[in-house]
This record gives sequence, C-alpha cells and structure tokens, in this order.
Amino acid sequence: MRRRRRLGSPKDGPGKRGYRADLSAENRGEGDRMLRDVDIEEISDGKFYLPDDMAPTGCGGCAGCSECCRNTGDSIILDPYDMYRLTVGIHRTFTDMIEKQIEIRLVDGLILPNLMEHDETQEDKEDGCPFLGGDGRCTIHAFRPSFCRMFPMGRYYPDPEELRQKGGQRFSGRTFVYILQKEECPGRTGTPVLLRDWLDTPDLDAYEKFAADWHDFLRTAGQKTELLTGQSADQMRRYILQVFYVQPYQTGQDFYPQYAARRKKVRETLAPVLQAQGRN
Ligand code: SF4
Ligand code: SF4
Repeated sequence: MRRRRRLGSPKDGPGKRGYRADLSAENRGEGDRMLRDVDIEEISDGKFYLPDDMAPTGCGGCAGCSECCRNTGDSIILDPYDMYRLTVGIHRTFTDMIEKQIEIRLVDGLILPNLMEHDETQEDKEDGCPFLGGDGRCTIHAFRPSFCRMFPMGRYYPDPEELRQKGGQRFSGRTFVYILQKEECPGRTGTPVLLRDWLDTPDLDAYEKFAADWHDFLRTAGQKTELLTGQSADQMRRYILQVFYVQPYQTGQDFYPQYAARRKKVRETLAPVLQAQGRN
C-alpha cells in the first residue's frame, strides 16, 4: 500500500515539513496564505507536469516509511470532494468527524476543514494523522484526501505568460499544472511513474475540472469575504462551510452534479449579499 505525505505549510515551523498543494503565481509574496508564497524554482525541479507525463515520484512502495503522515499540523486541508469520498468510504460525515479527526480554521478569508494532527478520541496521542494506523499504514488509503494522493506532487496555477514560456501549446487550456516538490519525500528514489497512475483519482479529468473551479471559488470568495465586515463576513464564511462541507453528500450519487448544484446555490445566494455591500 502506498501512502503520500500531505503538503504542509512553511508557517508550521521546524518538524512540520512541506508545502500545500495549491500554489498560485499571483500570490507570490503574500506570505502566510493557503495560496502559498513559495519560490517554485526553489522547491521544485523546475518542470511542469501533466497527467500523461512520467514523473520521478517512485518511492519503493514507501518501504516502512510513514514520514509524510506524521507532523501533519493543520496542513491537510480538505476539499469538498475529499469530504464526499470520506463519507462514501468510511461512512462519516463532517458532523461525525469534527473535533475528532477534523477541525476548522480560517484560511485566506474562509473557514475550511483540515485533518487534525491526531485523533482526539484516542488516548495515545502521538503526532500523526488520525488515519495513520499502528502499522504505519494509511487506514483510509482508498479514500485518502487529494493532498495525500498527490504527494510529493502539488498543483501550481501559473499565470498565462509563465505557461506560454514553459511550453506553449502543450499547456493550452490548462488552469493548473503539477510540480514535483523535490525535497519533500525522503524515500523518493526518482523512479518514473505515470502521473495519472500516481494521482490515483477516479475520473481524473472530472476531478481536475472541479479542482480548478474550486480553486477559483476559494480565491474569489475569500477575497470578497475579507472585504466584508464583522457579522456579514462571519455569516458568509459559515454559510460556505455549511453548504460545501457540513451538509452531507448523497453517497449513492455522483459527486460532481452535487457540487455543481451547491456551487450554483452559493453563487445565487451570495450575489445579493455582495451587491448590498457594494462588493460584487
Ligand atoms: S515520505 Fe515518501 S516514502 Fe515516506 S511514506 Fe511518504 S510518500 Fe512514502
Ligand atoms: S490520510 Fe492517510 S495518507 Fe493522508 S496523512 Fe493521513 S494516514 Fe497519511
């Protein structure tokens, strides 16, 4: 069984290694943000990868290593698809897991859930993801979050000019590419692996469309929410959390139509709020 480390954040400090997955060129220089301020040339091998590329991610099946599932801090932020997959796979909803396996925090103007560093229900609270088994293996491997599935790859959203310079037509139509965070996996041997296989994501094309849309939503909603004051901002954050995470997903139905319906609902609900605030 192969496990992947989540992508941590530079603010985590010593012992909390790594970077989050969603890195945006426009946010360079902003510091302690989810859309991380990092030097792509410094953390990556300088290449932009697509799903049908071979990427040097091989790690010999992890071979007893569980490094990336320890000292996770608050860095494994969940997206709505992660929440859906957890609900399908382990039959637990947001409400079942909050303050046990997940917690919420303010990230870039919105309230988002992340995996806790340990399971509050367990007496033996060693550092480590709450889903890390005693044998050092992921107990939810088939349903692990997207950051875990990618690790040590990450998503990067370059600006169009950067994409053009890197590969022109090759990246045509892409909102994001994948980068290799070259120092993050201590067990990496560099054996080339087809990235599509490595990502281990059902219907990857549909997931990528969702990931791009979700990234755009987080960016725009976060910016707008930060312009609101006091109660309005808090209400909007809680509303977004409620719609995309707290309200359970129908496990017998496909995720993407459910996401699209929620996205539409949020757009329609928030438009008049922002208009009233003169923020649309
Ligand atoms: S750090 Fe690398 S080798 Fe170690 S468990 Fe994570 S992915 Fe596997
Ligand atoms: S969910 Fe699984 S792969 Fe991800 S950090 Fe936890 S134990 Fe590791």
